[in-house]
Amino acid sequence: MSFPYEAPVSQSLFDRASAVTPGGVNSPVRAFRAVGGTPRFMVSGTGPYLTDADGREYVDLVCSWGPMILGHAHPEVIAAVQEAVARGTSFGTPGAGEVELAEEIVARIEPVEQVRLVSSGTEATMSAIRLARGFTGRPKVIKFAGCYHGHVDALLAAAGSGVATLGLPDTPGVTGAQAGDTIVLPYNDLEAVRAAFAAHPGEIACVITEAAPGNMGVVPPLPGFNQGLKDLCTADGALYISDEVMTGFRVSKAGWYGIDGVRPDLMTFGKVMGGGFPAAAFGGRADVMAHLAPAGPVYQAGTLSGNPIATAAGVAQLRLLDDAAYEKVDAVSAEVRGLVADALAKEGVAHRVQAAGNMFTVFFTDAEVTDYDAAKAQESFRFTAFFHSMLEQGVYLPPSAFESWFVSTAHDTAAVERIAAALPAAARAAAGATA
Ligand code: PLP
Repeated sequence: MSFPYEAPVSQSLFDRASAVTPGGVNSPVRAFRAVGGTPRFMVSGTGPYLTDADGREYVDLVCSWGPMILGHAHPEVIAAVQEAVARGTSFGTPGAGEVELAEEIVARIEPVEQVRLVSSGTEATMSAIRLARGFTGRPKVIKFAGCYHGHVDALLAAAGSGVATLGLPDTPGVTGAQAGDTIVLPYNDLEAVRAAFAAHPGEIACVITEAAPGNMGVVPPLPGFNQGLKDLCTADGALYISDEVMTGFRVSKAGWYGIDGVRPDLMTFGKVMGGGFPAAAFGGRADVMAHLAPAGPVYQAGTLSGNPIATAAGVAQLRLLDDAAYEKVDAVSAEVRGLVADALAKEGVAHRVQAAGNMFTVFFTDAEVTDYDAAKAQESFRFTAFFHSMLEQGVYLPPSAFESWFVSTAHDTAAVERIAAALPAAARAAAGATA
């Protein structure tokens, strides 16, 4: 596909970046490999808008992959950060900010009795499965194909493979030993989970699942799936870990737990809780968390854990996220979903808009997407054409057909109108695309 519109400053930054950084980026999806073209180097963000290095403005439907639920540069979050930064940037001691953030989390999410702060979602899931193994004294972990839990060795195993795949490494650098205790199962398939527990009695430390997956595109759990996982774990003495790094504090005050009410043993958080800074967490049952050092023997630590700037941003953001804020984000999400579906329907493009709360993905297929294989069966070449048309018209979508789209409280009528104005041409581009 050719790209008639140009981004010369981004292109020259990308050339420089590629000389000094593998693939020119610090996180792979940013490189636009799935859609082609020049990744946009952003220089600023305000409310629902991003501005790139060539001076072009975009309505942002990525929101930093979820964190920016109040939009960019929210004045109260910025003020909290400025106040904190003026007092110093890191002390390596306990501080009041981390107590406040932990209290906010515990107050919002009832199953979280104790919480430990870390710096990334990857650290949170890595630490949670270590704790589950330490607590249960068991080795094996069940995860689901298409679910992403960060780049933890044991959790990269064979994502995307089928029922029979038992922990063979599919990323070079992950050894069989690191992945060998990971059992990868198809998402939304309780029978497969039941069979795995039957095949490995007393060996499974935990099941880890995205509370509502957004990393194969948005594929919500079928009714009863999460409860079924929890029940199977409880019956076997394994722990149920709900990964809410993406959904936590985004889809409701209490994340996906606030929607489905299934009580996890452990939970992981990131993204929104850091207000755009590196803060993440894992927490849950107090008797399990008591096994964590220094209270217990399972080691976990971090030089920048509970960093005062990150906790100040997180506390400020969470305190602004009241019921009205979630109503606003839900309403904007519903409006954008409706606009996209109408535009695609008008052009006769097969599509399915799937949502988990206010997170959503537009799949280019007629069929319901309930697992990773179904997600991969969509006509993603149509997404590529759609993406580039939107980009050219000033709407920044995730540069992959397998990601969630995100909106914020700052997406006002003007921003939604810009999206609406771009959709007819993008839908025509999708209709005319060829594989
Ligand atoms: N878990 C989920 C559900 C995620 O979506 C992500 C990141 O997208 C992670 C874990 C990893 O978080 P991080 O990128 O902060 O390491």
